[in-house]
This record gives sequence, structure tokens and C-alpha cells, in this order.
Amino acid sequence: MSLSQLARSIAESPTLRLNEEARLLRERGEPIIHLGIGEPKNKAPISAILSTAAKVVQGDIKYSPTDGLPSLKKAIIRYTEDNYDKLVAPENIIISSGAKQSISNVLFTLLNPQDEVIVLAPYWVSYPEMIRMYYGVPVVVTPEDGGFYPRMADIEKAVSSYTKAIIVNSPNNPSGVMYSEEFISGIVEFCERKNIYLVMDDIYHKLIFDGRKPISSYKFTTKDVESSKLIIINGIAKLYGMTGYRIGWAIAPRELVEIMTNVQAQTTSCTSLILQAGAEGALNGVQSVVEALRLQIQNNRDVIVSELESITGVRVTKPDGTFYCLPDFRAYMTDSVKLSQFLLKKALVVTVPGKEFGMEGHLRLSYSGTVKDCTEGVARIKWALDPNSANEIYIGDKKLVRDWL
Ligand code: PMP
Repeated sequence: MSLSQLARSIAESPTLRLNEEARLLRERGEPIIHLGIGEPKNKAPISAILSTAAKVVQGDIKYSPTDGLPSLKKAIIRYTEDNYDKLVAPENIIISSGAKQSISNVLFTLLNPQDEVIVLAPYWVSYPEMIRMYYGVPVVVTPEDGGFYPRMADIEKAVSSYTKAIIVNSPNNPSGVMYSEEFISGIVEFCERKNIYLVMDDIYHKLIFDGRKPISSYKFTTKDVESSKLIIINGIAKLYGMTGYRIGWAIAPRELVEIMTNVQAQTTSCTSLILQAGAEGALNGVQSVVEALRLQIQNNRDVIVSELESITGVRVTKPDGTFYCLPDFRAYMTDSVKLSQFLLKKALVVTVPGKEFGMEGHLRLSYSGTVKDCTEGVARIKWALDPNSANEIYIGDKKLVRDWL
């Protein structure tokens, strides 16, 4: 019996695989430093915990409406008004099990076989695989200068009669850069004019530094939500450090939401009632928790960037937001998979190869952990890469031995 060729061709999620590898090594007592995954160490906000607990205690845990709990939708409408300056209707919202499912639903709903979706490198690992899952074709646009900022001229060149959508993620996983207002306004205007859907993956839009303000793409369209090509993706995972709650949402014209709702009804029925209650608690609770988390991550960003700058030959673009940076290690090695494996084996530091994000020669490092993770992780990388460093170091009673690749 042969299995689906398409399913078998879908790549494993490298970040989730590395996470599992790190967990197993930790279980074995290895002093691993995990700079692999974007997941802050905070506890869920108390308002989220209480509202989750209240729902559980009540005991009446049933299916919820497929497109989400009306009371959570109300909180999302307020969030959208506050942060995007846009009033949307409940019918424009569908709540899913994580922003990942929201993006998946959107692609399922938009794509016919062979439709193309433009993805901007460096890109989030899941976009190309998800596009392929729905028989679409990912078209990757890579900045010619090797930098992290896309140019409208390159995007326009990549558009064909098959282009159905463009996905934009700013601030960006994995580079941490935030695209300029000029770029966002340009791409919104372009997509509206060309009738191309623009999927704005805004999962990090409030996790930005140095006084930057989130950019609302709605600001640049003259169309109303129903006739616009804009689809906004957001969620609570990064905003509140509630990754395990798996709550995300999409905001789109209602015609699209109706189809996404059918797709979701036939796949997962609905999102867990308990977890939606938790998300509602987070969105309706005191928002100072978001600011506290943001400040902590900004401080981590400062620490990791200054540590990385101290490694000769490593070039780092200072992130404007997110938990990630994507330093360029080509001075040491161009094969990022090999380099990442070397650092895991020799220095017990988890990193993600840039190749997975369409940026070979780079490594994605997450600074969502503690300051100590950032300093010690980079110190170990420096030790492993520097030919002049000591051959052996001790981490507690664990001996690390360095030999060049
Ligand atoms: N988009 C991007 C760019 C992400 O980095 C992530 C999570 N790593 C997601 C979407 C998915 O978020 P969620 O955990 O809500 O599914």
C-alpha cells in the first residue's frame, strides 16, 4: 500500500524537531542551552489562568461554535479596534487552534492547484510546506543584497497570472526586522490594485522594541473589510507567552470566513472551549503583562546582540522585534545545518539552521529565554568557533571538548 506522495514530501518542522532533541538531551542530564525555540519563560497572565480555571470548574465543557466563542470574538474586536484602529464584525473573525491553523485554513480556502503564493525570504519555515500541502506553489523572493528587507520591485517581478496571495510577516521570524511603513503601504496598495490576497502574519506585531509602534495595514487601504484583500493573522502565543494555549485567529472578508469555517468544521470542529476561555481572560485582563514581557525580551535582545558582536567575523542585524535574530556565520561556515549540528554536539547549544528559513550561512538564535541563556549560549558558540580558545571547558562537571569542524 503506498502512502500519499504529497504527505510524505512534507518536511518535518525543524524547530519542533530541535525542541524534542533538546528535551531528550536535557532529560539525560546534559546542560543544554536552548536558543532554538521562540517561547518565553513567563507564566500565563493571572487573568488567563483564572478564566481557564473557572471554565474547567464549571464542568460544562462542550463543543463551541466552529468559528469561535462570541465572547472571545468580542475581545478580539476590541483588540483590533485598539491596535489596528479598525472596527470589524464578528463575522469577519474565525478563531482556530493557534495562528498556525489560521494560516493553514486561509491557504486551504484560497488555493487552487498550481496557484502561487509569494513568500519573502527569510521566511517562517512553515509557509512553503503549508502552501505545498494545498497543492499551491511557493514562490520565494530573496533580497538580492543578502539583507532581510524585501523590495517591492523584486516582488512585482515575481508576480504572475497564477499569484493568489503574498504572505508578509513583520516583525519577522527569523530575522527580527520590522518592515518599513513605506513598504507595508506599498504592498497593501499593490495587492488591492492587483487583486492579490495579502496575508499579514502579525503574530509579533506588538513585540517590538525601541519605542516602535505597531503598523496597521488597514491604514493603507481605502477598501472596507469586505472588499479588501487583506487577511490579518494574530494570536495570543507570542503576545502573552501563551504558546501552549494554541489560540489564534484570522480576520478576513466574511465570504472567506464562511468558507474557512466550513474547512475548520470538517477538520477540527472547533477550538477548545477551555483554551478560548483562557485567551479571553488574557485579552480582557490587565495589559501591563504584555509590556513587562516586551521589556524583558528587549533587554535580552540587547544582551544577545552585544555578545554576538564580540565574535570576530559574525555579522548581526539588530532585531526591531520578535524573539529572534539571524546572525551571519559565513565567516566560519556556509553550511548552516552542519554548523548547527556542530554547535549542538560540541557546545550543547541549540540553534536553528538559516537554511530552513531560506537564508543559508546564518543561524537563527532565539532570545526568548533568560539573560543567562543568551550570555552563556553565545559564550559557548564563541568558544566553539574561536580557534584560539581553550580545547576543553567544564560546565559543572560536564567536560566539553572543542575540535574544529
Ligand atoms: N507565524 C509565525 C511567524 C510564527 O513564528 C508562529 C509561531 N512560531 C506562528 C505563526 C504560529 O503561532 P501559533 O503558536 O499561534 O500557532
